[in-house]
Formats: sequence, structure tokens, C-alpha cells
Amino acid sequence: MPELPEVETIRLTILPKLKGRRIISGEVLHEKMVLGISVKEFLERVSGQKITGMERRGKYLLIELAADLIIGLHLRMTGQLTVEKSDSPLAKAIYFRLSLDNGTELRFRDQRKFGKVFLYSRGEPPLALEKIGPEPLSPEFTVAVLKERFGQRSLAVKKALLNQEIIAGIGNIYADESLFYAGIHPARSVNSLTGAEIDGLYHAIQKVLSEGIKLGGTTFRDYRDGEGRAGSYQNKLNVYGQKGKTCPNCGGLIVKMNFGGRGTHFCPLCQK
Ligand SMILES: [Zn+2]
Repeated sequence: MPELPEVETIRLTILPKLKGRRIISGEVLHEKMVLGISVKEFLERVSGQKITGMERRGKYLLIELAADLIIGLHLRMTGQLTVEKSDSPLAKAIYFRLSLDNGTELRFRDQRKFGKVFLYSRGEPPLALEKIGPEPLSPEFTVAVLKERFGQRSLAVKKALLNQEIIAGIGNIYADESLFYAGIHPARSVNSLTGAEIDGLYHAIQKVLSEGIKLGGTTFRDYRDGEGRAGSYQNKLNVYGQKGKTCPNCGGLIVKMNFGGRGTHFCPLCQK
């Protein structure tokens, strides 16, 4: 699933192609993708609207329209977003398209059909968006904020990092990498972490997410940026997907443990 660095990379590559364009019409071939209203109503409300910007909140992309309307998109497992010439061949599994006023169109390709699209008025975000925790790369997110978000919970730190209501945008890959850099075992409960450990984890999160964006995200299978290009952070991974390989830190073996239904990778020697 695309995480913060992948979704941000898509935003950065798509935004220049959308900003200032007007939506002419659209087509949705998988009706369940559109939440809350009918496909017909969705297309009627966005047609003719000018796109003024595109933001990201956690793993959501938010396309801003002139009439204070916002189109929210969640790519879920296999979603891909591109802007292409309207007359270019359609790849398989494109279930959502918006035609723009310059002969291009926004295409949402989604092999597994889990992706979602919704529409809301600015200032009235759906609950799912409202509940999202702080953006880890925003200036407001400090060590003190992370400490406060963790609070006195007895939740395992890996689960806390994956919880979008505690902190936004982190998924399995960047959670495992952050815990490796911080030298923290994924099963440690957050209320057992020392001040120094939370400080280390804070900086590890900043490092892996920033580097992830710089390298255009991590591609194992489906993820592509808005230009259809793969990312390259997969070449920098220390633990995620590295089961049985040697730890770059200590030379021990990286293990994979099933943890809360998610494969979790770590070095048992470096992460006590
Ligand atoms: Zn190690």
C-alpha cells in the first residue's frame, strides 16, 4: 500500500498537471469507488469545475476545486494515478477518469478495486479525514507531540505507528524502518519507551519519510508516481522485506515476525 512518501511523490508529480485545469467530464466504471453519493451526482458536481490545487493528508490525496469542493482519493492497495493525453491508449483496470480542458485526463488505475473517491465541501471533511493524527513532516510535529500522542497507552509501538489516528501516513514499510533506526523492538509498549527512545524514534521517522520522498517512494509491485515511474527507496531498506539477510548494523540476521496480522521485520540484536 502506498504510504506517506509514495502518496506525496504522486502529489508532487501530478499537481503541476492538474493545477489551473478545468474538469470537462468524467467516467467511473466501478461504481463502488465513489463513496456517499451516486456516480451521476459526483460527475455532475465536479464537471465544469476548475482545479486550484492538490494537498495530501496522511495517505489521502485531496484535489481542490474552485467552488470550495474537494475530491478526496485513497489509493489503498494497488491504486495508481496519472495524467495522460486523452487519446493515449487506456491501460487495463482504469475505472475512474476525469477529462481536463487541455486534452489530457486524470486516470485512476486500480487492479484490485479497493481505491476510493469522495467529494466534500471545504470545512466539512468526512470523519475519516478529521480523525487523522498529525502530519509527521509538518513543523507542528515535534518530539513533545509524539510523546503526547503516545501518552500512557500500553499499545505496542509498531501498532501505534500504524494507527493513523495517532500519527498520519506511516504504514508497514516506514514503521519497520523507523524502529530499526531507533533501535526499538516493535513489540515494546509505547508507555515503556524512555524519553531518549521517543526522541530517537521521532528523528528516525523524519529521516525515513524524508528520504522516502527524496527517492520517489518504495516500489515492490504496483506503486508508480504520477509519471508512471517506479520509486527507488526499496534499495535503501535495512529491514523491511530483508528477512534472512544480514543486518547492516551488526551483521546478525533480519527476522520477520507476524505481529497484529502484519509482517514485521527487525534485527533482534539491534532492536531489544
Ligand atoms: Zn543488527
